[in-house]
Amino acid sequence: FQFATDQDTIVAQATAPGRGGVGIVRVSGPLSATIATAIIGFPPTPRHAHYVPFKDRAGEQLDMGIALYFPGPNSFTGEDVFELQGHGGPIILDMLISQCLALGARLARPGEFSERAFLNDKMDLAQAEAIADLIDSSSEQAAKCALRSLQGAFSKRVNELVEELIQLRIYVEAAIDFPEEEIDFIGDGKVATDLAAIQSRLQQVLQEANQGALLREGMNVVIAGRPNAGKSSLLNALSGKDSAIVTAIEGTTRDVLREHIHLDGMPLHIIDTAGLRDSPDEVERIGIARAWEEIHKADRILLMVDGQSTQSTDPHTIWPEFVNQLGSLENLTLIRNKMDLVGQATGMDDTATVPVISMSAKTGSGVEALRQHLKNIMGFDSTTEGGFSARRRHLEALRKAQGFLESGAAQLHGYGAGELLAEDLKEAQHALSEITGTFSSDDLLGRIFGSFCIGK
Ligand code: GDP
Ligand code: ZN
Repeated sequence: FQFATDQDTIVAQATAPGRGGVGIVRVSGPLSATIATAIIGFPPTPRHAHYVPFKDRAGEQLDMGIALYFPGPNSFTGEDVFELQGHGGPIILDMLISQCLALGARLARPGEFSERAFLNDKMDLAQAEAIADLIDSSSEQAAKCALRSLQGAFSKRVNELVEELIQLRIYVEAAIDFPEEEIDFIGDGKVATDLAAIQSRLQQVLQEANQGALLREGMNVVIAGRPNAGKSSLLNALSGKDSAIVTAIEGTTRDVLREHIHLDGMPLHIIDTAGLRDSPDEVERIGIARAWEEIHKADRILLMVDGQSTQSTDPHTIWPEFVNQLGSLENLTLIRNKMDLVGQATGMDDTATVPVISMSAKTGSGVEALRQHLKNIMGFDSTTEGGFSARRRHLEALRKAQGFLESGAAQLHGYGAGELLAEDLKEAQHALSEITGTFSSDDLLGRIFGSFCIGK
């Protein structure tokens, strides 16, 4: 790593652009104290709020406000940090920033303050990402999860897994180095037991991270069904309570993706299965391909049927081609609609092959059960205590680690192959370390911090 000492001094507006009661300009780097002294006219007292005039180099007053100085390493970035809290107008703040530039600072790149905090070990990568997630969170639940990640809840879980992997690696590698013990090490079952324990804990973390990611990014739900099943009616019933935005998606020639809403931060899409039939028409085939793309991307697929047309709750029976192309029933929920006409009870039934919700989109009966079902999948309820926010990147790393552990287990059980197991354990450890940034490429860092706003 390139450590953030002896670096440029950077400056940026820390508050959102535009007008506000207060605007904050943040400076970080070795010139912070010099810049502070020039602007407020005397050396700042560390961690003390000075209410003073801010002056330019000619001694002319630019603004009046609060100046704060945090010498490194006890600052956000770990470097010397100087903050000017002035009046929140764009002209005033620009003048303050210009002063800092004239005194030797340069403009910060997006996310550069957080990047320096990471490089100076003030926080790990997952925590730095949690700052952005906290600021961008779209629901109270997501904000709480981001805060828990920021405080290290997610990193702690990952670090525990890494620590367990290291312990197991030490044991396995010792056994390889002393082959006379190798028979024991396979035979005594410790390796198999420990590996299985790590796998199951990883699975648990993955599950929680998955919910965290759904909360952060919103769940993609596709409602699929034949024309007149009641898809639009359901969308209206769902959005009615939520004043959600209903829009039509344009551009698909066959109008396959007709509309979507946002419900508690999750996007919902409708796909009409009329558009999913086999077609010799090239244009139509593109539309169908797009619809399937949408379905495969979905976190949840709601297959909606008119309850009058079938009593079956088995998707294989209802629509075998769809299920075949889908590949798995894992993300499928069956919705039996128009119960008001069928005269059956509404609500959730989770005793069938897939979760089944009976409802009437027209009367609204059973719609609440669906909302609850979607929220459960998102983890709105179960993560109120321990949840943390996570990104797709984290999920990929966890899944990668999971893959290596599976491969390692296969080596162990299939061939008793200690060397190959050791290699897989090492790879799994590296994959996990990408989450906290212990092992990370400059490229990855660039992508993560580059997506932050300036001033973060
Ligand atoms: P879509 O083609 O799947 O979007 O279906 P629509 O939402 O447009 O509904 C088709 C027809 O079924 C409309 O006349 C709706 O009023 C009616 N409909 C939808 N849901 C229900 C329901 O739960 N009960 C009854 N009785 N009619 C419904
Ligand atoms: Zn949409």
